[in-house]
Amino acid sequence: MLIDSHAHLSMPQFDRDRDEVIRRAAEAGVELIFTVGTDLKDWPKALEIARGSDGVFAIIGIHPHHAKEVTEKAYSDLRTLSQDEKVRALGEIGLDFYRNLSPRDVQVARFRDQIHLARELNLPIVVHARGAHGEVLTILREEGAGEIGGVFHCFSGDYGMARACLDLGFLVSIPGTITFKNSEDLRNTIRKIPLDRILVETDCPFLAPVPVRGKRNEPAYVKFTALKLAEVRKSTFDKVARITTENAKRVFRLNGDRA
Ligand SMILES: [Zn+2]
Ligand SMILES: [Zn+2]
Repeated sequence: MLIDSHAHLSMPQFDRDRDEVIRRAAEAGVELIFTVGTDLKDWPKALEIARGSDGVFAIIGIHPHHAKEVTEKAYSDLRTLSQDEKVRALGEIGLDFYRNLSPRDVQVARFRDQIHLARELNLPIVVHARGAHGEVLTILREEGAGEIGGVFHCFSGDYGMARACLDLGFLVSIPGTITFKNSEDLRNTIRKIPLDRILVETDCPFLAPVPVRGKRNEPAYVKFTALKLAEVRKSTFDKVARITTENAKRVFRLNGDRA
C-alpha cells in the first residue's frame, strides 16, 4: 500500500474523469491520497472531493502564488473549513521566489500568518519552497515551526537543506522528479535521508514520473516514484511502501489523535 501525500485532484485537468482517477489509484495500491486546495475558491472543491471518498483527505492553505489575493474572508474561511476532520494539514504554504506570482514581502507575511494559524488550529503544515530554501528555513526557525511539524513537499534541495529540514523535525516528500535522468544530485541526497522521514507524492497533474513523463500525472503513478526510491536506496518496494505509508499516517495524524 502507498500514500500519495500531495495531489491536486481539484484542478480542472481532472474534471472529466476524477472518479476514475481515484479508482485507478486504489487499484494500483494507493491507499490514501492527500489533495491540496490552494486558494479560497479551491478549498471547498478539495474538501468536497475528500468527503466523497474514504481514500481521500484534504490539505488547505494559501499557496504563495495566491498570497496577493488574500482577504480577511480567506482567513475566516480557512479557519472554518479546517475544522472538518477530512482536513489534515495547512498547506501548501511557503515561498516561491522562482515564479514570483505574488510580491515577495506579501508571500513572507502570508507564510508567517499561516504558521500562526496552524499553531492555533493544531495542524501540521505542508511547505512549498522554490527558489527560496534559505528564506523558508529562516522563517520556520523564527516562528518555532518545529513545534508544529509537517512536510517539505516536492523536495528539491541539496543535502544541507535536507539536513536542516530533518533537524527541524520535518519530513520530506519526494516527487516524480527522482525518476528523471538528470536528477542524479537529488538521488544522491535522498540516499542519505533516513527512510522514516520520507513521504512520496505525485504533485499531480504535474511532474509525471518516468515512464509516463510528459503525460498528465495522477496518484496511481506514485508507484513509479516509490519503485525508484527503493532502487536508489537498495531497498525493496514493499519496505519503501510500508515505511512511507506509516510516515504519512504519523505526520497527518491518522491514527486517531487529531486534537
Ligand atoms: Zn508546491
Ligand atoms: Zn502542490
